[in-house]
Amino acid sequence: MRLRNNPKANEILENHKDIVVFNPNENKGKWHDVFGNDHPIYIEIGMGKGDFIIENAKTYPDINFIGIEKFPSVMVGALKKIDEEEPLANLRLMKVDAIELNDIFLENEVSRIYLNFSDPWPKKKHAKRRLTSETFLPIYQNILKRDGELILKTDNRTLFEYSLISFQQFGLQFEDVCLDLHHSDGYEDNIQTEYERKFSPFGPIYRIVTKFKG
Ligand code: SAM
Repeated sequence: MRLRNNPKANEILENHKDIVVFNPNENKGKWHDVFGNDHPIYIEIGMGKGDFIIENAKTYPDINFIGIEKFPSVMVGALKKIDEEEPLANLRLMKVDAIELNDIFLENEVSRIYLNFSDPWPKKKHAKRRLTSETFLPIYQNILKRDGELILKTDNRTLFEYSLISFQQFGLQFEDVCLDLHHSDGYEDNIQTEYERKFSPFGPIYRIVTKFKG
């Protein structure tokens, strides 16, 4: 989801210092001080324009949410939505590539990681860029608490199947696998993402909930 380059994007980010965390690696091991409480930390990697993370922050005030996105021009979309909301003390955003997360979070600092509609990178030569590949799983394992969850949602059957195999090969434990999230019982609390709203009319949404074995 690379929007046309917005030359003012970095300036807009600078004007939201209350919500955008600059130099996030300075908070490594100290994220609870940023929020001023000991509530669990949930992160979304590749939050896009932020629909999911903003709605989560509104729905669950006792969880701290951090939205992570590598393109500032995309983050601007999230900031526009946040400007329309009441202030959300439990939400922060940062412009970071997932590959850097070990520099930003200490071991066991994160309670849940959401990967929503991650870029599928369909070419085999780009497989290592997929956010569910073995490139990223050791990073998630390091920053997640022992009982923490890694949750993937996607409409892309190929990425779904690839991720199942990648998780299984890495030794992840499957807590739940859903083949049609919007037409199955027990998922009424599902919060939709922007891509989910856009693509769910055309086919099933898959979801995988996993944990790293202790
Ligand atoms: N999660 C949103 C949703 O479901 O509507 C956006 C999905 S969009 C297809 C994927 C997003 O992930 C893009 O905004 C992209 O810039 C971001 N992204 C891809 N690779 C990333 C990485 N390595 N680190 C951080 N963000 C990444």
